[in-house]
Amino acid sequence: QPPLLEVNGLRKYYSVKGSLNIFAGAKEQVKAIDDVSLKLYEGETFGLVGESGCGKSTLGKSILRLTEPTEGKAMYKNKDLFQLNSRELVKVRKDLQMVFQDPYSSLNPRKRIGNILEEPLAIHSIGNKKERTDKVLEVLNKVGMGIDHYYRYPHELSGGQMQRIGLARALVVNPKIIISDEPVSALDVSIQSQIINLLRHLQQDLKLTYLFIAHDISVVRFISDKIGVMYLGKIVEEASTDSLFETPYHPYTKALLSAVPNPKPRFKKERIILKGEIPSPLNPPSGCVFHTRCPYVMDICKKEIPVNREITKNHYVACHLFNDV
Ligand code: SF4
Ligand code: MG
Repeated sequence: QPPLLEVNGLRKYYSVKGSLNIFAGAKEQVKAIDDVSLKLYEGETFGLVGESGCGKSTLGKSILRLTEPTEGKAMYKNKDLFQLNSRELVKVRKDLQMVFQDPYSSLNPRKRIGNILEEPLAIHSIGNKKERTDKVLEVLNKVGMGIDHYYRYPHELSGGQMQRIGLARALVVNPKIIISDEPVSALDVSIQSQIINLLRHLQQDLKLTYLFIAHDISVVRFISDKIGVMYLGKIVEEASTDSLFETPYHPYTKALLSAVPNPKPRFKKERIILKGEIPSPLNPPSGCVFHTRCPYVMDICKKEIPVNREITKNHYVACHLFNDV
């Protein structure tokens, strides 16, 4: 089975005027995403985890071209999303929907929930008025909201309800892929698990494929079949969720996992505290982008970018420690 969506060599660079540059007016480059590839298989969840500022939101948005990628390919149904014109793009976005951390900011406060949910159907010219209403009621039901919410306004809803509406708005056009960016990060822990369970349930019910983006690896773990660990614009390790938790290879992944309660017993837990902050993507470190914080840094790390290697089956790592494996 080929992947449903295959992203290859995605880069998102942009220039800013360098304030510290001695050459007045010289441009400096921000490497928000630097050569990222990933595959989404139908019905699976790919979790993307990393600290804030590592580029994971930009990655999600670039795939849907909510921000324009600089380079790369994103193949979906034999078409490269990055080559589509704006009309084709509107069409394909029916299949690929995005859910954001803060649904409230994207829900028009003056519109009733029913109207908000009908909007995407109108945009994609789906159904007549009656069919649209029926579809909205069906989808309200699917996300566990009573149909009486049809007439409510966004401000009348709790955070968890709001996220259900955010989901409903994505689902109403019957998408294939949902890219969700920190969908539960703004919610209380108890509500988080309700929404995660809802996402899992909907996935089975509707055969959805997810790209699930979050900074919290224990949240990502519960929903993901595979996980990509992102650091400063790059995926530094990728594996099945089990393999990643049982045998993390990359020093950054190890540090992330060391902070998680109840790791699998085989993974000895000693909290690894990384020094410093994630560096700026403006002129990122040479060689391995993690070298400024890595406890195992070697000379080669500062000079050469480590390539992605398959260490065990379907477990990929980009780190010079594994060059001879
Ligand atoms: Fe650390 Fe070097 Fe591996 Fe980068 S390549 S993670 S600096 S050991
Ligand atoms: Mg973000």
